[in-house]
Amino acid sequence: SEAAGVTRCEGKIQSVDTDPQSGNLTRLSLDTGITIEGDVFIDCTGFRGLLIGEHLGVGYEDWSHWLAADRAIAIQTQSTEAPKPYTIATAHKAGWQWRIPLQSRVGNGIVYSSRYLSDEDALATLKQNLDGEMLTEPRYLKFKTGRREKAWHKNCIAVGLASGFLEPLESTSIHLVTTALIRLMKLFPFSGDHQLLAEQYNRETQKEMETIRDFIILHYNLTKRTDSDFWEHYRTMEIPEPLAHRMAIFASNGYVWPDDVALFRVDSWVQVMMGQGLMPAQHHGASRMLPTDSLKQQLSAFKQSVNNALGQLPAHADFIARYCPASEQVK
Ligand SMILES: Cc1cc2nc3c(=O)[nH]c(=O)nc-3n(C[C@H](O)[C@H](O)[C@H](O)COP(=O)(O)OP(=O)(O)OC[C@H]3O[C@@H](n4cnc5c(N)ncnc54)[C@H](O)[C@@H]3O)c2cc1C
Repeated sequence: SEAAGVTRCEGKIQSVDTDPQSGNLTRLSLDTGITIEGDVFIDCTGFRGLLIGEHLGVGYEDWSHWLAADRAIAIQTQSTEAPKPYTIATAHKAGWQWRIPLQSRVGNGIVYSSRYLSDEDALATLKQNLDGEMLTEPRYLKFKTGRREKAWHKNCIAVGLASGFLEPLESTSIHLVTTALIRLMKLFPFSGDHQLLAEQYNRETQKEMETIRDFIILHYNLTKRTDSDFWEHYRTMEIPEPLAHRMAIFASNGYVWPDDVALFRVDSWVQVMMGQGLMPAQHHGASRMLPTDSLKQQLSAFKQSVNNALGQLPAHADFIARYCPASEQVK
């Protein structure tokens, strides 16, 4: 972007000026002495939300009553085997653990709620469940699940953690940064009614965040565990109405649908609902029009084509070595 004419200024924002009449942001002053004036500002200052929260006073909708996790501890370990092409998420008594195989090491972490587990016990649980030598000291992270009440307010658009955070069970943060930028490009306030553009941006952002929130809650709420207060809370808590509706219609009729701005679509919902034991009482009536033999034949042909494709794929490690080996620096 610098080649295209963008000027990059580094520094810590020390003060922010707003227009007393419109309330719009007008100028940032950096600790380097530079001042930056602008028509539109993007707040990407992380959880702090320096512009959108501290200066424009937009609140944060707290979702911790639905998603209780507010802490994580991360540790890198040595690889003990060829990398698997997927992340493993393992439920623990009061939280869950991630294991992400990389080319030269494994990323591990435990996500938990400080209401149900102390930092010491979380660290002990994580350490007991590592399968390689530790390469780093534990890194402690704190977060607050929720969303900025308006991601776009006045002439400021919050992106990334400044606009909200969902616990990392589905690793959605970077995806949400990307979709926010695409949405902003589509709705950029070059001209016309900026207020309408902001409203549309906020509606889409809210819907996107709430749908991911519900998808994550689904994983927890369908638990059958009764071995801790943590799981008891998730199993018995009141869930958001759109999720309750989605689960009820799936249980009664096997109906699933993708939302317009949704990351998780039909297959994802079905996998988690059925994978965790929510089975539909019946299927769509139209499927009964297909004779059973014909249905079996179609499914078997489908399975065969998947197996054929799989048989031709290289192993994950071979694929990485061929197409995207990490440089020594990254390792
Ligand atoms: C261990 C770990 C694993 C993760 N794994 C994944 C994953 O697999 N997938 C995924 O999608 N996400 C993942 N995430 C989350 C993702 O990395 C973060 O959500 C993302 O980096 C947040 O970016 P951000 O720019 O919004 O906030 P930050 O990265 O917090 O950046 C905010 C920046 O604002 C700056 N700032 C604050 N105040 C000022 C000021 N006054 N002046 C100037 N600058 C200021 C800060 O210095 C900082 O650089 C992971 C995070 C961690 C910690």
